Amino acid sequence: MKKRIAVLGSTGSIGTQALEVIAEHPDLFSAEILTANDNADLLVRQAILFQPDAVVIANEMLYRKVAEALKDYPIKVYAGAKALEQIVCQNSIDIVLMALVGYAGLMPTIKAVESNKIIALANKETLVVAGSLVMNLAKQYRSPIIPVDSEHSAIFQCLAGEYAAIDAIYLTASGGPFLNLSTKQLAAVTREDALKHPRWNMGAKITVDSATMMNKGFEVIEAHWLFDVPDNKIKVLVHPQSVIHSMVQFEDGAIKAQLGEPNMKIPIQYALTYPDRTVCNAPKINFSQYPALTFLEPDLNKFRCLKIAYQALRSGGTIPCIMNAANEVAVQAFLNNKIKYQDIYTSISKTIESTNSINNPSLNDYIETDTEARRIAQTIISKLQSS
Ligand code: NDP
Repeated sequence: MKKRIAVLGSTGSIGTQALEVIAEHPDLFSAEILTANDNADLLVRQAILFQPDAVVIANEMLYRKVAEALKDYPIKVYAGAKALEQIVCQNSIDIVLMALVGYAGLMPTIKAVESNKIIALANKETLVVAGSLVMNLAKQYRSPIIPVDSEHSAIFQCLAGEYAAIDAIYLTASGGPFLNLSTKQLAAVTREDALKHPRWNMGAKITVDSATMMNKGFEVIEAHWLFDVPDNKIKVLVHPQSVIHSMVQFEDGAIKAQLGEPNMKIPIQYALTYPDRTVCNAPKINFSQYPALTFLEPDLNKFRCLKIAYQALRSGGTIPCIMNAANEVAVQAFLNNKIKYQDIYTSISKTIESTNSINNPSLNDYIETDTEARRIAQTIISKLQSS
């Protein structure tokens, strides 16, 4: 039977690649739901091509535009953030691919979990913000969470068939565009510099997160929740070739790694076919093109966002939620050329210092903390702009 897939964030980098995978395997998958935030034109084109049951445009102002463009097709059109939460509960869906960016992924993921869906999770911010709550709900509702992030997919694949405890996770990192710059040089980097990732072609927010290495910090937190491993056993290893997608070490010292060309179609497809595999239309590795695979420790004094993410994980409660909100606000300000690269870290650390944190938070605590942290982060950024 075909797996019926809701692609949340179908117009983004992960979403469009997921639709390529779905199109390449019409016998295995159908796109049941497609969603976008602002990109109504692409959403409409995707809907005409894939003929889903329904589409959701999160930006309500664009409802008429999408509805008008699809009026001659048997496709339902909804709008708004609440519609995203409702649509994932639909009985006609088997898998929800969470490819929204940022905090916006949290509530639809929770609703999908509570509806016993299989979650193919790309949206790492969900676990950064509320990992404990989401993983507990996933256990309670027996809703499998299958990682899409390439590092976590690698770890997930290394763990297949293993029952032994994990001794260490080696989370590999390309190091981003600024790996070889000095702290002094980092003070002068621009938005355009940050958007030139050496290995991966991704959405703007995650590309900036990769440049600051906050992305790797998020992935440490994501790995902690997905695989139930403490922070001191999750080691980040800079591996500029991005051929080893991550590794797991067991207590006997044996290490398993998952390798391949850096191409997100493989982990996206694996999350959709799991526990099976099928052919994937992505380039296969030619080892002679990689005569040397190299590794180095990340410089936590240079990449302070990675350090702050480890600290946030150790502190727990709502601190990672505050960090995520501050990061989203800071990255947006950086992308809008309102603050400098180094201000991203400064505003995150000041927001964490200035926002009340809560131990053992409820869902409502996370929601309120996110709102409060964004307000504080905006104020801090305004001060940084005028200083
Ligand atoms: P993109 O920015 O390319 O796409 C984001 C998608 O989410 C778009 O469809 C966008 O719609 C939609 N969206 C944005 N904001 C909202 C909102 N407030 N409400 C509803 N929908 C919204 O991001 P990526 O595809 O790069 O990343 C998606 C997620 O996957 C992120 O969490 C990222 O960290 C993670 N990830 C990405 C990887 C990659 O290679 N890109 C690798 C591993 C993980 P619209 O187009 O209309 O703006």
